[in-house]
Amino acid sequence: MRKTCVCGKCITRGDLCNICLNIYGANRAEWPEWLKFLVNDMRKELRRERRIDEHEISFTDLGVY
Ligand SMILES: [Zn+2]
Repeated sequence: MRKTCVCGKCITRGDLCNICLNIYGANRAEWPEWLKFLVNDMRKELRRERRIDEHEISFTDLGVY
């Protein structure tokens, strides 16, 4: 899964693209609720994918495949 900003733009780091960062600011406490929700959701999604990746690596290392 590619990490994307809430506006759909691909981002490599952080939670928002530069444009959205300009609009909403870097201070999470000042974000509207829907924005916090979307960013949290995306982070959960990324964590899950990372866990699956780690799993695949450990299986390969053990010579299961
Ligand atoms: Zn954006």
